[in-house]
Amino acid sequence: MDNRRSVAVIGGGPGGYVAAIKAAQLGARVTLVEKGRLGGTCLNAGCIPTKILLHTAELYNQLRASKSLGLKVDNFEVDWKGLMERKEEVVNGLVKGVTGLMKANGIDVVEGTASFKSPGEIMVELPGGGNRSIETDAFIIATGSAPFIPPIEGTELEGVIGSTRALSLDQVPESMVIIGGGVIGVEFATIYSSLGCDVTVLEMMPRILPNMEEEMTEILKNSLAMRGVKVFNGARVTSIDGKGRGLMVHFELDGKNRTADAEKVLVAVGRKPFTEGLNLEAAGVKLVKGCVNVNDRMETNVGNIFAIGDCTGKNMLAHVASAQGEVAARNIMGQNTGMDYRTVPACVYTQPEMAGVGLTERQAREKGYDVKVGKFPLAASGKALIMNDTGGMVKIVADRRYDEVLGVHILGPRATDLIAEGALALRLEATLEEIATTIHAHPTVGEAVMEAALAADNAAVHIPNKKG
Ligand code: FAD
Ligand code: NAD
Repeated sequence: MDNRRSVAVIGGGPGGYVAAIKAAQLGARVTLVEKGRLGGTCLNAGCIPTKILLHTAELYNQLRASKSLGLKVDNFEVDWKGLMERKEEVVNGLVKGVTGLMKANGIDVVEGTASFKSPGEIMVELPGGGNRSIETDAFIIATGSAPFIPPIEGTELEGVIGSTRALSLDQVPESMVIIGGGVIGVEFATIYSSLGCDVTVLEMMPRILPNMEEEMTEILKNSLAMRGVKVFNGARVTSIDGKGRGLMVHFELDGKNRTADAEKVLVAVGRKPFTEGLNLEAAGVKLVKGCVNVNDRMETNVGNIFAIGDCTGKNMLAHVASAQGEVAARNIMGQNTGMDYRTVPACVYTQPEMAGVGLTERQAREKGYDVKVGKFPLAASGKALIMNDTGGMVKIVADRRYDEVLGVHILGPRATDLIAEGALALRLEATLEEIATTIHAHPTVGEAVMEAALAADNAAVHIPNKKG
């Protein structure tokens, strides 16, 4: 007789598979149901494949600048088919890795689509036909999200695509209009413009990446423009229509009607929680604005049912889904823990990369803090100069009263790796002085974080400080 607590996880993305592993590590008997491929959106159609294409795009741009790096490189070109093959290879390798982890942790993976029959039972529709009923002590819903399709006439036309399709086109299109200047929009703008496509980004808000540090999104917009990307802020798309073999996007800008032609139109205006077919009514689980409603312990309104990841409509990020998965598993297994969203880093894998954690300067002021800001331009960083990537900066936002760091924002090479220092600083409630007196290795871009902390007190070493 197996007396272990039993847990069924619905969905095998970075939320679900991490929750399953954690629950198994804590002694649960775990079943994971997945209707597609293990790894979910992140591994198969999100984080990983986009970054594979971005990596090649970055190398391609470096080759373009080879002369200034002391290299003579002639005759290089994009091998799109080879890049698609590499993408498949890396993704398949990682899916295999997750499959191996399931096995190593004794998790029973069931291929099929799950739906609730009652608060204590799910039915899995198996791919070859037939059903399997699963009754467990606890359930974790981790069914992810799907693209939001805006009510714009023409989105059904051939050539109008979403991010999944944009990851496996037959070739680099000659031109692309991207509707939405959010994370997906600017990452694909970086990929395709680097590889020779004529890209236009249409963003409805007054700036791209509206939730990131303002000053930095301006710099990023300029660096996209330098790569030939046309970015229109405050652009309201009204319709898309066919034009010969291509498409024409109609939009309003400053009260005037404008158009942009393109071979492909990528729609990237956000994602919505995915709960279709789960039959949540049978379990009594409440949705609020389409999101599975959870508290910080990842509990839904039904005692034994938890939910994590994109389907909860919190920050739709892989690392958030995984952290929520860990919290849910721990609580199911008798521990008592909750999510802290204050220290979640947000990363954008553009060139240069952008990353932020905590409050932006504007958010800190709006919250009423007496704000102190330190900035360090990467033009003064030895390592950034070595890397030929000096357009960015580090900005630290702090509370003048206690000197506590409230936000760290980085634009520059490997910003997405460097932001971990900012997340740790916020988690430990670090002060500016604690960052400034932490010895950072030389030469590294990370030194700029230390210099920005010093700059907040007009004490930076490698830039002139403000007088007085
Ligand atoms: P998912 O990864 O979506 O997994 C849900 C799984 O549930 C799927 O495999 C699905 O098949 C399965 N499922 C659904 N319903 C059922 C059912 N009824 N029965 C059985 N199985 C079911 N985030 C980052 O942090 N960094 C990035 O760089 C990044 N890049 C991205 C790029 C793109 C193009 C996109 C689209 C997203 C990106 N994201 C990124 C977001 C990230 O992919 C998601 O936040 C993350 O995948 C959410 O994890 P999840 O486990 O909640 O859901
Ligand atoms: P997003 O919310 O990041 O950006 C959508 C953008 O579209 C916003 O700037 C919004 O103002 C704009 N918009 C909305 N309606 C519009 C319209 N009608 N016309 C023009 N612009 C319009 O969403 P996304 O870029 O689609 O990404 C979806 C999710 O995937 C995000 O939640 C993100 O967290 C996640 N993601 C993360 C990463 C990463 O972490 N690097 C990468 C890709 C995606």
